[in-house]
Amino acid sequence: MQLPIDLRSDTVTRPSPAMRAAMAAAEVGDDVFGDDPTVLHLEAHVAELLGKEAAIYVPSGTMSNQIGIRLHCQAGDEFLCEANCHILCYEQGAYAQLFGIAARSIEGEYGVLQVEQLLGRIQPENDHCVRTRLVCLENTHNRGAGRIQPYDAVAEICGWAADNGLARHLDGARLFNAVVASGISAADWASHFDTVSVCFSKGLGAPVGSALCGPADLIRRARRHRKVLGGGMRQAGIIAAGALYALEHNIERLAEDHANARILADAIRNTPGLRLDPEVIDTNILIFEVDPELGTAASFVARLRDEGVWTNATAPQRIRAVTHLDVSSEQVKQAAAIISETAKSLVELVG
Ligand SMILES: *Cc1c(COP(=O)(O)O)cnc(C)c1O
Repeated sequence: MQLPIDLRSDTVTRPSPAMRAAMAAAEVGDDVFGDDPTVLHLEAHVAELLGKEAAIYVPSGTMSNQIGIRLHCQAGDEFLCEANCHILCYEQGAYAQLFGIAARSIEGEYGVLQVEQLLGRIQPENDHCVRTRLVCLENTHNRGAGRIQPYDAVAEICGWAADNGLARHLDGARLFNAVVASGISAADWASHFDTVSVCFSKGLGAPVGSALCGPADLIRRARRHRKVLGGGMRQAGIIAAGALYALEHNIERLAEDHANARILADAIRNTPGLRLDPEVIDTNILIFEVDPELGTAASFVARLRDEGVWTNATAPQRIRAVTHLDVSSEQVKQAAAIISETAKSLVELVG
């Protein structure tokens, strides 16, 4: 038994010995002067993967998204986004706090919007209104249980946005999960957007960082925004080497995380008192409901933790579990058994 089994998030992954060796051996320079060779290598590599002219390495996905928004909007502008997206829910409204930018949200189905929902949402050009400038999408969708955006819906929304003079930004924190699960390349997904943010510190397993990718002129401007946000890092090649290693070794293996999520999903589906929501798991994130008869999500999470399985309560009856490269399929099978047995013991208690 290898416990604990940490399913709280795919951010908990630690650099492997081989990744650490790559980091220890990294050539470095001063990235604020633009001469850290490992950072430059990472930026060129990720830009090429996404089919963009340039990329900038930043400390976090939050900074990457906020710089992306700031590139397309200024004070008095607004962007359109899905109501449960990370930019809106988990970044402290930074676009408003820091830049005076507004957001208009529209609720999708597990994070998926259709173009029809956006029609008519662009503010008229008059002195009463904010200026609608940008559409932000998220793929895969975090609060949508790792849902992959339907490719055709993305193409339609971005085509509509372009036709109406709106910029397009993709929060692709888990874009590579969508790539591996859909078989659609990162460059194809990214082709619909002006700027794309990807995270190295989620399922790819690097310790730190994200990249914002886009046209060279925008990424040049992004360097100024990164600096004022305190994201100018010096010998960042040390951590960029972890990100490079992740891109070179840890993309294809995301399929294992998706297979492991399906193992957990099957167990939850077959456990009385638990209900998957959504039923279908696209990638590596599962959300399930605990029947109130079994207690609250928080009490269920505490019981699981006592058994060595770590998850998160995200609402009074909702629990989130995420598979990643630091949990093996053996551990996932064990976690599935522990979750089922914990629920069954509670059902017997109330039954
Ligand atoms: C994790 C995440 C981010 C960025 O998070 P940081 O913790 O700031 O790196 C952005 N978008 C989504 C969808 C995420 O899951």
